[in-house]
Amino acid sequence: MQAYWNQFRKYRYLIAASAVIVVATLALLLMQYRSARRTEAQARATLLANLDTHLLAIVDEAKRDMVEHADHVTHSITQRLVRDRDLPKLARAFTRASRRFPEVRDFFVVFFDKGQDTQNWRALRYVPPDLNDPATPQYLGVPVGTLTEDADLSEALRRAWLTVHDRAEIAVYSAYAPLSSTDTQPHQVFFHPVYEVASMDRQDDLDRVGLIAFTAAAEEYPAPAYLRNLVTRYENLKEGDVGLLGKLAYRIKVDSGNTTRDLIATSNASEPQRLRRFETSDNLFPNLVFGVAPRDNTALAYPSEYARSSMLLGLAAAAVSLIGLGLTWRATRREMRVAQLKSDFLASISHELKTPLTAIRAFGDLLHSGRARDADRVREYGGLIKTESDRLTALINNILELSRLERGTRRYRLQEGLLCAAVATTVEVFRHTPEAQGCTIEVALPAPPLETHFEESAIRQALLNLLSNAAKYSGASDSERTIEVAVIREPAEAVIQVRDFGIGISKSEQHQIFTPFHRAPQPDAQAKGGTGLGLAVVREVARAHGGKVTVESEPGAGATFSLHLPLLNLPEQVTQPHPRPNGHAKYLSN
Ligand code: ADP
Repeated sequence: MQAYWNQFRKYRYLIAASAVIVVATLALLLMQYRSARRTEAQARATLLANLDTHLLAIVDEAKRDMVEHADHVTHSITQRLVRDRDLPKLARAFTRASRRFPEVRDFFVVFFDKGQDTQNWRALRYVPPDLNDPATPQYLGVPVGTLTEDADLSEALRRAWLTVHDRAEIAVYSAYAPLSSTDTQPHQVFFHPVYEVASMDRQDDLDRVGLIAFTAAAEEYPAPAYLRNLVTRYENLKEGDVGLLGKLAYRIKVDSGNTTRDLIATSNASEPQRLRRFETSDNLFPNLVFGVAPRDNTALAYPSEYARSSMLLGLAAAAVSLIGLGLTWRATRREMRVAQLKSDFLASISHELKTPLTAIRAFGDLLHSGRARDADRVREYGGLIKTESDRLTALINNILELSRLERGTRRYRLQEGLLCAAVATTVEVFRHTPEAQGCTIEVALPAPPLETHFEESAIRQALLNLLSNAAKYSGASDSERTIEVAVIREPAEAVIQVRDFGIGISKSEQHQIFTPFHRAPQPDAQAKGGTGLGLAVVREVARAHGGKVTVESEPGAGATFSLHLPLLNLPEQVTQPHPRPNGHAKYLSN
C-alpha cells in the first residue's frame, strides 16, 4: 500500500495532467458525437421537409389535373340536353362520350326540379349498347346505349352528392361513396351541375336543373399514362431545381385495404421515404398513395457520410492525443529513472572514492610519521597504497571512459594484434591485484594464437572489468572462487569468455545490467560496492569493435560473460564508438 502511495506521490502531477487530458479528450469526443448527431438530424429533417414540399407539389398538380379532366369529360355532354331532358339525345351523347373517354366507368344523368336538389331527384345510368344483340338501337348505323332508371342507384347517388361540401363553389365536385345499398366498395364520383340558362345570366349558381356525373377508378383515371407523364415531368427536372436531394424516385400505388398495387415505380425506386394522399376533404381517390425517395439512397443513409467522417476524425484526434499522452508517460518515467540512477550513482561513487582514499591516507600518514621503520612494513604499506591507488585508477578510468563515450569524443584505434597475448597479459595483471586474492583463475587459449584487429587498452579494460566482477560477485568457498577465462575461435568471431561460480544474475536483471549506473537490487549484489559503470564500458567497447557482449546466468550458479569480437579483416583504422544520440535515456532501451 505504502509503495503504491509513494508511486502516486512521485507521479502525482503527471497523473493529474493525464486525467485532465483524458477527461478533456472524452468530453470533446462526446461533444463531437452530439454535434454530429444534431447536424445529422437537422440535415435529415431538412431533406425530408424538402421531400415533403416536393411531394405536395406533385399531389397538388395531380389533383388539379384530375378535376380539370373531370370538367372536360362532363363538358362533352351538351348541357341543353339535360335542361330539355331529351333522353334519346342524351343517350347518344353518352355513347359518344364513353367511346371518347374509356377511363370513365359509368355515366349518369340526374334531374331535379325548381333548382333544388331536394325536389324530385331522379338519376339515370347510361348503359352502353350490347354489340352482340341485333335488337340494340342504332343511330345513323351506330349502336347507341340507353339510359336506365334504378331507384336504389338514384338514392345512392343522391347520398353521394350530399357528402359534397360547399356545393356552390366550383364547377366539378367529387365524392367517394357507395353507389347502391348493397355496394361494399365506395366509388369515385365526379358531378357537374347543369344550370338554368336564365339563372346563369343572373349568375345565380343555385338554380340548377340537374347533374352530369360519372365514376372512375384510380387505376385508369384520368388516363392510364397520366401518372407516368406526371412523374416523368418531375423526374426530368434539373438537379439544381430539386435541391440537395439530387434526383428523385417515385412510386404511386393503389392501396385497397389489404392489397396494394404499384401503378408506377420509377427507376431505382427504393422504399419511398415520404408518402402522401389527397386531403380527405378533396373526396378524391383516397386509395391513391404517392411516394417519393431520393434516387441516391445514400442521401438519407444513417449514419450519414458526414457524421461518419466527423466521428472518425474525432476518434483519430482522440487516439493521437492518447498516444501523445502515452509517449509523455514513457519519457517522463525514463527521465525519472535516469535521475534516480544518477543519484544512486553519486551515492555509490562517493563511497567507492572514499574507501581507497581513506586507506591511502592512513598508510601515507604512517609512512610520513616515520613510525614504520621496519623495511618490510614500509614495503607493505607502500604496496597497500599502490593497490588502493590502482583501484582508484580503475574506477576513474571507467568514469572517464564512459564520459568520453557519452560525449562522443572517444576514438578507438584498432590494430592488428594477438588477442590471446593481450588476454593472457591482462589475466596476469589481474591475478596480482588484491581483488583476485583467493581466486583460482584458469585460462584456456586456442592454438594457434588468434590474430585480429582490436584496441589493446580498451580490450584490457573491458576484460579487467569482467574479471573484477567475477571476483567481486563470487562466493566465499574455494569452489565458488574459481574464474575460468577462455578465448574461443568461432567461424566469424573471437569470443573472450569469463566464467564465475558466484551469486549469478536473475533473468529479469540480465538485460539491465549493461545500462550505465544500473546495479542489481538483490541484497547480496548490493552488499558489494560498485558504481554500475563496469559493464556499460564493456558493452561500449564491444560495440566499438563491431561486436557485442552477452551473459548467461542462473541465480546462485554463477555467470558467464562473453565478449564477441568479429574476425573482420579490418584495415588499420580509426573507429567511432557505436553511434547514438546524446543523453541518458538511450541506455534504458537496451
Ligand atoms: P558494479 O560496479 O555494480 O559491479 P557493473 O556495471 O560492473 O557495476 O555491474 C552491474 C551489475 O551487474 C552489478 O551491480 C551486479 O549486480 C551485476 N553483475 C555484474 N557482473 C556480475 C557477476 N559476475 N555475477 C553476478 N552479478 C554481476
